[in-house]
Amino acid sequence: PAHSKRCRRRRRVGIMGGTFDPIHNGHLVAASEVAWVYDLDEVVFVPTGRPVFKLDREVTSAEDRYLMTVIATASNPKFTVSRVDIDRPGVTYTIDTLRDIHAMRPDCELYFITGADAVAEIMRWKEANQMWSLARFVAVSRPGYSSSLKGLELPAHTVDMIEIPALAISSTDVRKRAARDMPVWYLVPDGVVQYINKHGLYRGKPRRSRGSG
Ligand code: ATP
Ligand code: MG
Repeated sequence: PAHSKRCRRRRRVGIMGGTFDPIHNGHLVAASEVAWVYDLDEVVFVPTGRPVFKLDREVTSAEDRYLMTVIATASNPKFTVSRVDIDRPGVTYTIDTLRDIHAMRPDCELYFITGADAVAEIMRWKEANQMWSLARFVAVSRPGYSSSLKGLELPAHTVDMIEIPALAISSTDVRKRAARDMPVWYLVPDGVVQYINKHGLYRGKPRRSRGSG
């Protein structure tokens, strides 16, 4: 009978956490590449609430960061966005993100995606040793950061490092460019450029007047 041939595998779900202030093409390439390499069925983008490593600086409102993430991912059928971190009060810790998503999708295999810069700190994350049973971790290469896991003292078989196409883009650089009225086209998706302009995000400093020197 047909049912005895069933070979359905567990659904594989990637989790792409980030401040996304704003989301840029480096994030999207990272998620797309991990989805391809690990044959993921879905990648959930999870904008942080209050990011613990960024308590010293102003972060754009969670609602703006969430909406930019929705705009950037809307056209990809595998990409979705979750509000778990922005709806949880207080500082965001990855262990809570993993527990919430695991509770909502208990039958899925979770793959937490992180860049080479973030993975270097991973052993200092809250309850780091509780994370490994909830998800497999995939670190992606990032220009300017070491692509080696050596010296991080990670438990065996918890984190993979993969090389992805190099995009030397950071949200910090996009914010600085927007503040100076420099172009951010092609660094972030078109809809995100338009959202930044429409809402006047990152306009800390007065705009440079063109033509008058
Ligand atoms: P900021 O400069 O504000 O820290 P960011 O560009 O580092 O912004 P985050 O939201 O901090 O973006 O990053 C979310 C995740 O995406 C992190 O795991 C980070 O390492 C990874 N990441 C960000 N940019 C890249 C990139 N260009 N290539 C690969 N990974 C990236
Ligand atoms: Mg960062």
